[in-house]
Amino acid sequence: MPILGDQLDRAHPALARLDRTRDRLLFVEAPGEAAQVWSHKARIALFFAAMRAFAAELVAAGYAVEYLRIGTHPHATLGDAWRAVLGRDRPDRVVACEPGDWRVLADLQRACAEFATPLAVLPDPHFLCSRDEFAAWAGDRSALRMEYFYRWMRKRTGVLMDADVPAGGRWNFDAENRASFGRGGPGAVPAPPRFAPDARTREALADVERHFPAHPGALASFAWPVTPGQARQALAAFVRDRLPRFGRHQDAMWTGMPFGWHSLLSAALNLKLLAPREVVAAAVQAWRDGAADLAAVEGFVRQVLGWREFVRGVYWRDMPGLAAANHFGHEAALPRWYWTGDTQMNCMRETVGQTLAHGYAHHIQRLMVTGNFALLARVRPQHACDWYLAAYVDAVDWVERPNTAGMALFADGGRFTSKPYVASGQYTRRMSNYCSGCRYDPAARTGERACPVTVLYWRFLLDHERVLARNPRTALMVRNAARLAAGERVAIAAAATRIDTRIDAL
Ligand SMILES: Cc1cc2nc3c(=O)[nH]c(=O)nc-3n(C[C@H](O)[C@H](O)[C@H](O)COP(=O)(O)OP(=O)(O)OC[C@H]3O[C@@H](n4cnc5c(N)ncnc54)[C@H](O)[C@@H]3O)c2cc1C
Ligand code: SF4
Repeated sequence: MPILGDQLDRAHPALARLDRTRDRLLFVEAPGEAAQVWSHKARIALFFAAMRAFAAELVAAGYAVEYLRIGTHPHATLGDAWRAVLGRDRPDRVVACEPGDWRVLADLQRACAEFATPLAVLPDPHFLCSRDEFAAWAGDRSALRMEYFYRWMRKRTGVLMDADVPAGGRWNFDAENRASFGRGGPGAVPAPPRFAPDARTREALADVERHFPAHPGALASFAWPVTPGQARQALAAFVRDRLPRFGRHQDAMWTGMPFGWHSLLSAALNLKLLAPREVVAAAVQAWRDGAADLAAVEGFVRQVLGWREFVRGVYWRDMPGLAAANHFGHEAALPRWYWTGDTQMNCMRETVGQTLAHGYAHHIQRLMVTGNFALLARVRPQHACDWYLAAYVDAVDWVERPNTAGMALFADGGRFTSKPYVASGQYTRRMSNYCSGCRYDPAARTGERACPVTVLYWRFLLDHERVLARNPRTALMVRNAARLAAGERVAIAAAATRIDTRIDAL
């Protein structure tokens, strides 16, 4: 039974079914998985450290585990390793839990088919909405909206509900949330707990340095939870220290503040060290205890019970088409500084810099800084997806791809978003202090100090003026564009072309 790196779940459905006297669990550290996209060292290290901890726990509990460590076997990919084991052992069946990656599932199915080994793929009980339940909810609708899914999830789980009515009488507290910090900045932000690597994790870090020395990112600050116990400590610290101000500053960014009031729980959730049920329950309990107000708690629950479950449903519904989607036909390469942070654009330097240091950036940094720029610079969606999958410790295909291709790049033409998420440098100026330390001016769309984000934003508006004018959610955005004189339009187009030609030197 294969156990994948994002299935480190004590409730893994195959565990309950196996016969400990004859069945075996197989873990593989495959170099090809880390190099399929050019993975951040911390992402590889987190998977290895957490896999090793889980395997050790299973061995201690009496399970038969075969663990193929990096450097100790000849198999480049998971598929190679599975084929070798299937050929050697000729098992009478393989039982697996649904992988988080369409490609991995297809490969497992192919490998078992080649050896005529029956394969049972069990639903993943970690999620609060199964793939079948999502498909039934979505029906044959061509456009899906998270808000309706989220309300449906609230009703069926009873989370933050008073009978049939949402707690506090409202489904959505966005009006109270999502403020900037103002001129004074964030003040003192409680630091998230750090989990100093133990001997096993230090060994995993050393293996990553040995086998992936040229990969991006640093390991110096590695302090992610790698066991369920640590993940629960991280959850408790978040609920106590940061949840009360989570919603209000959810979208705000500030120089030198990589984490803000965010939970940093995505990696622990995605590796299945934590269950979404317990995360949601802990947040709701904080509200019941009066430790956090409803706006903060609803804002957080919306992310876990709403967005996280929703994008998983979208992924399985829209794959494999989503992987090839390219609504705008964009083909540009990703600017090189996405891999180094070496750019004069302060917003990008900050966001990419903290990503390389920690393997982390919060949602608005991913969506409205790096994502916005990739869309405006006409980057091919698949290049952007590869970068996000590589760069973040929490990256697994089912969650990364819909967020990147669907939400940030609009590559699916708006399957679950009502408009492209685009903004000029003025948005960054409002939501952060990045612009005050920048060589560029967010208000300028032409001239020496023209902000590349602003220039490319205006080009996007002019390129798609007619379509955007027809959509009530974007009509306002293009109203100003309609007033531009012909000369200004030409100047914006010329400034944008200059940016395209020197994109790696911005
Ligand atoms: C381009 C892009 C790529 C992304 N790639 C990933 C990815 O590979 N893995 C990943 O887990 N998230 C991804 N996200 C979603 C989101 O940015 C991260 O979940 C979040 O920033 C993780 O930080 P946190 O744990 O501090 O989250 P918090 O802000 O504290 O939110 C709480 C939890 O809600 C969930 N969540 C919040 N937003 C989303 C969302 N849009 N989709 C799914 N779950 C959500 C996460 O599990 C998160 O831990 C991506 C977003 C964008 C725009
Ligand atoms: S001026 Fe433009 S490039 Fe500079 S930080 Fe602001 S948005 Fe980013």
